[in-house]
Amino acid sequence: MKLYLATGNRHKAEEVSAILAGAGCPVRVFGAEAIGGMPEVEEDTGSFEGNARKKARALAGQAPAGAWVLADDSGLCVDGLGGAPGVISSRYAGPDATDEANTHLLLNRLAGTAPEGRRAHFKCVLVLTGPDGFERVFEGRCHGRIAMEPSGEGGFGYDPVFVPDGHTVSFAALENAVKNSISHRAVALRGLVDWLRSPGVTTGCPFGP
Ligand code: IMP
Repeated sequence: MKLYLATGNRHKAEEVSAILAGAGCPVRVFGAEAIGGMPEVEEDTGSFEGNARKKARALAGQAPAGAWVLADDSGLCVDGLGGAPGVISSRYAGPDATDEANTHLLLNRLAGTAPEGRRAHFKCVLVLTGPDGFERVFEGRCHGRIAMEPSGEGGFGYDPVFVPDGHTVSFAALENAVKNSISHRAVALRGLVDWLRSPGVTTGCPFGP
């Protein structure tokens, strides 16, 4: 069966596909481009869940009737900044800010902050919508700290300055497979997989054949 991902990011579609296939769910994951592309959605609700819901509903509006749609919204929350940049993570330094500009601003705002203030977590919220108004939310977090300076070549966004708990190097310096096993997205997706396998979901997988 088909699951449409409310994102134009093919990498995310592949990641979700691999995780669901690994869990034994016979799901074919499609990016929004399979049904006309991701519609323009203003992420203005002030919450990860609200934004994810808005994206899921927007894509569901142009998907085949009764289709399953999964949307995600994520960001970085830093303790010493009252949870900022949070829902505006991608545009912290301005509407078209680059990852480098966002990271630079974050490090500047944290200058002189005590170690406790550099504690942070990434958060990911998934909203799954389906037939007959079905809606379910899954959340994942990954805790760590903000480093004094960027390091590592991989990843994207704030990866070069985020050191996850249990590790001494940034997300950008970790192997992809390691990041993808502990990331906020991985944790949220595991919640989705656990739910798909739970006894309450009678067929074992609502997308199942
Ligand atoms: P979105 O969920 O793709 O909208 O991501 C929102 C923003 O949060 C991104 O543009 C990044 O700045 C940040 N972000 C989310 N997930 C990650 C991650 O895994 N690593 C680094 N930055 C991330």
